Amino acid sequence: MEKGFGEKKYMVELSEREVEDLRNSVKATSLKLMDEYIERMKKTWPNRPKIMEYFDEVAKFFGTREKEILKAKEEGRKVIGYTCMFAPIELILAADAIPVRVSSGIYDTTKLGNRIVPVEVCPVVRSTIGVGMIGFSPHLEVSDALITPLTCDGMAKLSEILSDRKPVWTVCPPRLKDSEQSMRFWREELQSVKAKIEKLTGTKITAKKLKTAIETMHRATRAFRRLQELRRGAPVIMGRDAMLVNQTSAWDDIERWTKKTEELCSELEKRRQEKILACAPDTPRIMIAGSPALWPDNWKLPNLIEEANPQGVIVADEFCSGDRFLFDPVGVDEWTMDDMFNAVAERYLLPSTCPCFTSEDGNVDRVNWLKARIEERRVDGVVYHVFRGCMLYAMEYTRIKKALDKINVPVYYLDTDYTREDVGQIKTRVEAFLEMLKSRVEF
Ligand code: SF4
Repeated sequence: MEKGFGEKKYMVELSEREVEDLRNSVKATSLKLMDEYIERMKKTWPNRPKIMEYFDEVAKFFGTREKEILKAKEEGRKVIGYTCMFAPIELILAADAIPVRVSSGIYDTTKLGNRIVPVEVCPVVRSTIGVGMIGFSPHLEVSDALITPLTCDGMAKLSEILSDRKPVWTVCPPRLKDSEQSMRFWREELQSVKAKIEKLTGTKITAKKLKTAIETMHRATRAFRRLQELRRGAPVIMGRDAMLVNQTSAWDDIERWTKKTEELCSELEKRRQEKILACAPDTPRIMIAGSPALWPDNWKLPNLIEEANPQGVIVADEFCSGDRFLFDPVGVDEWTMDDMFNAVAERYLLPSTCPCFTSEDGNVDRVNWLKARIEERRVDGVVYHVFRGCMLYAMEYTRIKKALDKINVPVYYLDTDYTREDVGQIKTRVEAFLEMLKSRVEF
């Protein structure tokens, strides 16, 4: 039994031998897969900029970034994990702690998760339970505490299950966001988390520290937006590579990530001027909407799109782990503690287009966000990606499809699971969709 934790509410006891064997086999498969996927990205984009090697290294679990985090822990810094983008990164940074996202994109651990929850549950949840059972995820393992936003039923129960392994701090986003009552409730949720962060780290979040953290994240957001801007015109970056850069921001040192992303953007802007493209200019431009494709195994769909015949290029995604993650800056009017804290609370609630929200207009913010990205990135078609068991994204599909039909953007619904067995079948379906888009582009 783990030190400091009592009787397990959910976790099944595994023998040390079983844990070690499982961890070794999942680790071996994952390391091989990460290398393979990076090689495939290089192959698809032969003149891939050298600076991308930096992001490849950060993407490799159990590599230099994990060692760096472990060293920081030895020196006394705390690591705070989080399961989704409602966690207030600025408050974590202001306490000099390290934020890391812990939701798992690893296929093999879902089978372990199945020992605790039914297979009908979304695979992100089952996989994250599985990595927790064998102590596999570098990010979950290094976390001293977890912030778990209760966005859907799966996340709510995941939070309880993970509390068998780590201290868990829940935050509950309101289902309706456009009211003063909701905002008041949300501010109180974040005040409570702020107090817990301060207690864990022993660091008081002062106005000065919060200002520094907000400014750090402003710089990250500027670099992030600059990169997404480069996905607007003729393709100078492949989608998978942009997605990898976006996702690594969730566990890298954010200041260094910002600097490296700016270097990448400068290189891509130069290429744009010199008309050096990553793929043919008439390649169908795809947006992936829906359930998040998390690195590494979940590169299944992005791989299929960008390696298909005919090829597609992913110019946008809707993922909370991707295009939406650092998109919105904290909007501060006055640099007082109250104003900054309220601005942080607003940033994590009001611009969010998570399908966990509802309104009399039917989550119109999400529809508008998708339409804006489709227009600015000149998207030819949308693959609407849903994990089996993800009710929120599945149920909003009809709403989104109707809205996109009105603007004449084809949408393809693709449901999948954390398995490699459906690759052949999905490939055929994706290629048929791309074929149809290609004929529209040529016409
Ligand atoms: S993919 Fe869907 S069901 Fe799974 S955690 Fe995310 S919102 Fe919840």
